[in-house]
Amino acid sequence: MTVREDHNDYDAIIIGSGIGALTTASLLSQIKKKKVLILEKHWVIGGQTHVFKRKKYHFDVGVHYIGNMDQRCMPRQIFNFITENKLEWNKMPHVFEKFVYPDFTFGVPAHPDEYREKLIDLFPSEREAIEKYFVDVKTASKWMERNYATSFQVPLLKLLGSLSKSKKGKAMALSTTKEYMDKNFKDPKLKAVLCSQWGDFGLPPSKSAFGMHCLIVTHYFYGGYYPEGGSKNIAMYIQPTIEKSGGRLMVNQDVEEIIIKNDRAVGVKVKEKHGKSFTLKEYYAPVIISSVGFYGTFNHLVKQKVDFLPEFLVMNVNHL
Ligand SMILES: Cc1cc2nc3c(=O)[nH]c(=O)nc-3n(C[C@H](O)[C@H](O)[C@H](O)COP(=O)(O)OP(=O)(O)OC[C@H]3O[C@@H](n4cnc5c(N)ncnc54)[C@H](O)[C@@H]3O)c2cc1C
Repeated sequence: MTVREDHNDYDAIIIGSGIGALTTASLLSQIKKKKVLILEKHWVIGGQTHVFKRKKYHFDVGVHYIGNMDQRCMPRQIFNFITENKLEWNKMPHVFEKFVYPDFTFGVPAHPDEYREKLIDLFPSEREAIEKYFVDVKTASKWMERNYATSFQVPLLKLLGSLSKSKKGKAMALSTTKEYMDKNFKDPKLKAVLCSQWGDFGLPPSKSAFGMHCLIVTHYFYGGYYPEGGSKNIAMYIQPTIEKSGGRLMVNQDVEEIIIKNDRAVGVKVKEKHGKSFTLKEYYAPVIISSVGFYGTFNHLVKQKVDFLPEFLVMNVNHL
């Protein structure tokens, strides 16, 4: 039997409890005073910001360092806002990243000028290409940021993005990282050093867009930061903010389907897990937000054929 849980009067339901969900819920709670229900299928909240323990060791599932976290940077200000200034960030040592190869090790300093000079000292015959690279990474990453902005369904962002789009940045950003490296550098060791951060986004240089590479490189130009007390504190400090507005975070809630009526998402069907058994439940709210990624949402949670995908989430958010 399915239990209908639509008496709670939530303004929005968010599927998943990762940083995307927590940020959205905190903003809705603080700015719009909305009651948000977060449904998480795992038994802990936080998604890839959660931490697990084996013997005396704690493991972060998905955060080892975050860039652009100086007090003046926008990501830091967003974190300050969504955690109501409760979360502190510790700066990593000046050489915050080490690339270790069998015959050499390269430490990346937390300043682009110093990073550039260090590379020139090691590879003096490639000075010109290195100097050009530090200009190119900024151009390509700016193009990427603006391109993201224009792809949002928010008119002001679309306008700002389209006003300042540079075609030069586009060609570079959409070439592969390998193509850029082969075209501009000779020394394979230098190419290896420059590409070493590919683990951060998971695609080797032959398969990644140079623009993605540049977003990561510029993101860490001024070093890395780590949340004080571990990444689990991100969720821990956001939870009370959501609850203050009447919201709730529930674990062991495996959302199986987004209920759609008349081309609108109106609710969710959930398997509430109790060990090996479960109860089927339905929750309803005026706004349904999926924070489990595009693939999971449209390949698993949206069961019926819909032909309104681009407007789907935006329509619902506008409803607020
Ligand atoms: C090994 C690793 C290292 C990383 N290192 C860094 C780093 O150093 N710096 C950095 O900035 N980023 C890093 N990342 C990336 C970063 O952690 C993620 O991009 C980010 O946390 C993703 O957040 P999210 O909210 O999009 O999704 P997630 O955190 O993945 O949250 C999605 C949540 O939805 C839940 N869910 C899924 N399906 C359902 C369902 N049907 N019903 C209910 N709940 C559901 C999941 O259980 C999960 O909790 C790393 C990632 C990994 C894997």
